[in-house]
Amino acid sequence: MPLNDQREEVRMLTLKIQQMTIDGAPYVCPECLSEAFTLDGGSFIDAMPVHGNCWQSHSWEDPLITVGDLKRIKEASTGRQRPEDADLFEITIGGAVLAGELYPEVTPEDVKAAVRVYWRRLVKPALRRQRRRAVRAVTQPVKQAARRGVAAAKAGALEAAWTAQTGGYEPDPDYTPEPINPCPACRGEGAHVIESRLHDTTTVRCSVCSGTGEID
Ligand SMILES: [Zn+2]
Ligand SMILES: [Zn+2]
Repeated sequence: MPLNDQREEVRMLTLKIQQMTIDGAPYVCPECLSEAFTLDGGSFIDAMPVHGNCWQSHSWEDPLITVGDLKRIKEASTGRQRPEDADLFEITIGGAVLAGELYPEVTPEDVKAAVRVYWRRLVKPALRRQRRRAVRAVTQPVKQAARRGVAAAKAGALEAAWTAQTGGYEPDPDYTPEPINPCPACRGEGAHVIESRLHDTTTVRCSVCSGTGEID
């Protein structure tokens, strides 16, 4: 991208309006009456009027709203801290009250909330089923391996079986172990201690219970 284009973008102040009223009357796209649109200030000069652009590509100039007003809206907007927050603004232009809501910018909290929903609705029930299956699948070989004292093989077998059956998933941001059953793979320890020939020990997090020592 040429440098000039980048400068154009920086200069351009755009606000995404979710909905807006002037003195209580809805301000909408004059052609399709869409409530959501952008207000674009294409100039450095505060007194210049802004352009409205709706999602259906209708464009209009609004002589009443200037680039300076756009900056004031941006400053007045409340911003969002939590996912349920709306980004609200209210300013006065020549005695008229312009109030509304900006299109929500995605915050880290939104992402976290999305992961949370994804986890609770989709991953957790599936994981619960798969975890039981993984435990069943590895318990026998683990017992045999343990009898032979091959702790590394045990950890490896667990890891492989668990990874194969769960695939990749996002970690639950709110994961708290529920007081349920101790994990049969690590006997509730949450980890496997592997002894090497040099009498050093290495602790490997149990991959069946994610180190919690519990299964559900
Ligand atoms: Zn329109
Ligand atoms: Zn475990």
